[in-house]
Amino acid sequence: MSGDVDLLVVGAGFYGLTVAERAANELGLRVQVIDRRPHIGGNAYSELEPSTGIEVHRYGAHLFHTSNERVWEYANRFTAFTGYVHHVYTTYRGEVFPMPINLGTINQFFRSAHGPAAARALIAEQASELEGREPTNLDEKGVSLIGRPLYEAFIRGYTAKQWQTDPRELPASVIARLPVRYTYDNRYFADTHEGLPVDGYTAWLTRMADHPRIDVRLDTDFFADHDLGRDRVVGQLPVVYTGPVDRYFDYAEGPLSWRTLDFEEEVLGVGDFQGTSVMNYADDDVPYTRIHEFRHFHPERDYPRDRTVIMREFSRFAEPGDEPYYPIGTATDRARLLAYRDRAAHEPGVHFGGRLGTYQYLDMHMAIGSALAAVDNQLPDLLAAGR
Ligand code: FAD
Ligand code: UDP
Repeated sequence: MSGDVDLLVVGAGFYGLTVAERAANELGLRVQVIDRRPHIGGNAYSELEPSTGIEVHRYGAHLFHTSNERVWEYANRFTAFTGYVHHVYTTYRGEVFPMPINLGTINQFFRSAHGPAAARALIAEQASELEGREPTNLDEKGVSLIGRPLYEAFIRGYTAKQWQTDPRELPASVIARLPVRYTYDNRYFADTHEGLPVDGYTAWLTRMADHPRIDVRLDTDFFADHDLGRDRVVGQLPVVYTGPVDRYFDYAEGPLSWRTLDFEEEVLGVGDFQGTSVMNYADDDVPYTRIHEFRHFHPERDYPRDRTVIMREFSRFAEPGDEPYYPIGTATDRARLLAYRDRAAHEPGVHFGGRLGTYQYLDMHMAIGSALAAVDNQLPDLLAAGR
């Protein structure tokens, strides 16, 4: 088969499909894509819940946002975007507050009417227990950003549920990306461009793969014994691999740790369950971290008025066989990753990319952006070395 294919792409997620599309369209290559799942799209895959027609994101809610003009222009070749702007609320002890923490959250929590300066002074005073020390873990970072009362209400319980690790054992960086705003702006993302694909993620991803020089074979595991399997292909054909890097090397340096999610989906006989798309649950005695209600992602669609689809999200450590979702990145993981990177650099004709191939949390725009960069910078060498 390698005679009529120029490039094998393992994984039909955003990274793999961006490489495949560019290689076929721009470079004129014949590309074979394989995925072990029965559908394309990787974790961005979505489908219509059959009894309601409501689009459900199968692997957790996906919101597209980017400030990268190249990625935005590229994405718009395959789909138009709605004007959806993401907002999140959180329930704490029977009361609903806006997230991320902003002047509205602060004033509601303290039953106050502070302006920005007074709110800053209040939080600075409540954060003073650190006495100017640099925070060394998530607990200290949270207190330094928002003071102990807000930290304990909105961050500690949620984070404990999401990570099942004492916040004093977690790196400060986990919540560094959660902003605190001294205005009433409660947009979740601050990027230039934001929206949802007008006719869904799967339509977008299907258009990326729709090219006469791209062939997609599903239900095909790279590590099984067949004509497109690792042992027959590597060294014969250039490979872009977007599966887990530790799996590729048969876990020779030890497994990398991941968190996984369990989703509990329910169709309810009401037109609107929670009035918004995502409600977080801050209390540690509520077992799930958040509830998604998918109809609110597309208010412009004509969805049924008497039924709705919700999904409760539960977080836990991934066991062998679970879907890997979030890289944990302990000190052991970081040491193993360096060893895997070294092995990857010496694997001729194979390029490792995407969130699993690099063990990095990547948003969709980051996966697309890094794939576009790889086509420019690494693909020429890969094509030369792969045969
Ligand atoms: P993936 O989409 O994971 O694709 C990798 C593909 O490789 C998979 O289809 C897999 O089946 C396949 N594969 C793996 N091993 C093999 C094998 N051995 N043989 C064949 N195929 C294989 N990003 C955002 O921008 N906004 C969001 O709101 C957002 N929410 C998210 C929520 C959750 C719960 C998660 C987990 C991620 C979220 N993301 C979000 C990130 C987004 O999912 C990623 O950016 C995107 O999936 C990265 O694409 P990828 O191609 O690198 O990986
Ligand atoms: N977080 C929190 N309370 C919230 C939302 C987030 O404590 O209501 C913390 C939590 O530690 C989480 C991190 O902020 O892991 C990042 O949250 P975000 O919603 O950006 O992460 P996601 O799970 O959507 O990738």
